Amino acid sequence: MTELAAALEPVLHDLRTCRVQPEVREYASPHPWQEGVWLLDPDGLGQVVAVVRGQSHAEQIVELAGHVQEWAVEALWRAGESATWPECPAHPNSHPLDPRVSDGQAVWTCPRGGDPTVPIGQFPTVSAG
Ligand SMILES: [Zn+2]
Repeated sequence: MTELAAALEPVLHDLRTCRVQPEVREYASPHPWQEGVWLLDPDGLGQVVAVVRGQSHAEQIVELAGHVQEWAVEALWRAGESATWPECPAHPNSHPLDPRVSDGQAVWTCPRGGDPTVPIGQFPTVSAG
């Protein structure tokens, strides 16, 4: 499995909870240090989400989750849906979760701090602690 595929798998798992789903297309990066794919929305508009080779697995997941989140927000907005993804389970209709590395693990966190913290790849299940 490539570094990109390994990092993309948990993010795309979580993206299944999004009301707009992407079409994933191959992207030939001009940079040898980068691997990416196109995410296209139903209108055929999209963006490249990419990882930098050689970063840690957790860093790559968080990087990718941030890009996928940007794509999801744009795609939801164009679809006329509430442009929040992934929605914070603790604060509905309020804000999305932020991706970040915590204790070497890629997680979704509430920007207000504290819980919930959900490992990326397991959203929307909320883990204890
Ligand atoms: Zn929150």
